[in-house]
Amino acid sequence: MTRPFFANVLSGALICIASATAAAAAQTTIPRGVRQTPAVYRFSIGDVQVTALSDGSVPIDLPKLLRGTSHAEVDAMLARSFIANPMEVSINAFLVELGNRRILVDTGAGDLFGPGNGGRLPEALALAGIGPDQITDILLSHIHADHSGGLVRGGKIMFRNATVHVGKADLDFFLDTANATKTGYDIHHFEQGTAMLKPYVDAGKVRAFDRSGEIFPGLTAELRPGHTPGAAFYTLSSRGSTLVFIGDTIHAAAVQFPRPDVTVTFDQNQPKARAVRQQAFAAFADGRTLVAAPHLAFPGVGHIARDGAGYRWFPIDYANRAAAPSAAAH
Ligand SMILES: [Zn+2]
Repeated sequence: MTRPFFANVLSGALICIASATAAAAAQTTIPRGVRQTPAVYRFSIGDVQVTALSDGSVPIDLPKLLRGTSHAEVDAMLARSFIANPMEVSINAFLVELGNRRILVDTGAGDLFGPGNGGRLPEALALAGIGPDQITDILLSHIHADHSGGLVRGGKIMFRNATVHVGKADLDFFLDTANATKTGYDIHHFEQGTAMLKPYVDAGKVRAFDRSGEIFPGLTAELRPGHTPGAAFYTLSSRGSTLVFIGDTIHAAAVQFPRPDVTVTFDQNQPKARAVRQQAFAAFADGRTLVAAPHLAFPGVGHIARDGAGYRWFPIDYANRAAAPSAAAH
């Protein structure tokens, strides 16, 4: 998601709330005067600890976001999932502790969505006991505001010891505003992308990759252009277990699992984005692959299964207890 889109759909959402009808009762209601606690969820992939970190959530006006469907169809699909427009969309980031590296996958929206919407990643990291200076690497799924927006806060680099890894095609595209004119893609993407990435480029802290392959032992990048030119999946593997970070392959579970052909307005290349989602869902379902998604309800980790002509989402089995005693303790 991006700021212009966000401003657009958020104002729509507020109008929607102001003229709420009984049908809108299913919307998420946050009690007045209450501040949610930052959300942290830890789990393991083989020997590697992974932590899902909530950057917050935003209400979005879904019919404005989606392409290839109708307002009535979206409302019907939302109703089947017991939710209503505006839909609450999570912004998730993930911490991977791989050997002596502390790797962040995406950085949330930072200040780019305005006060109260996103930007809570530092709080979640603090709750997980990690300071921004301890982050050694950042893997960006792509350069959109709600994935790269946490890189710079108040004009300052947030993660001064980190190297940013990103698809070269995204870096080349978003850091050259001439591409806005050439392609007609919204100029805000370029302005925000430049503001977030340029300080790291200038500091020599960006490593752009132009082919799929290993980033570190146990972590590989796979370029999947469509949503953006340099969009990438990242696959973590340890002791026969894998987790794939799938970036913006999916925004709206209630619609895009049953109808993976439905795209979003800011898919930079609509047909490619559609094809990536269709291919990825089929492969993940058939391979029973565990995936992590930035915009599915926190923690955004689970499995995709075939369901008729479409797919269905099964969130990870939630666990909140002490780890089982190790074999040595018996
Ligand atoms: Zn995006």
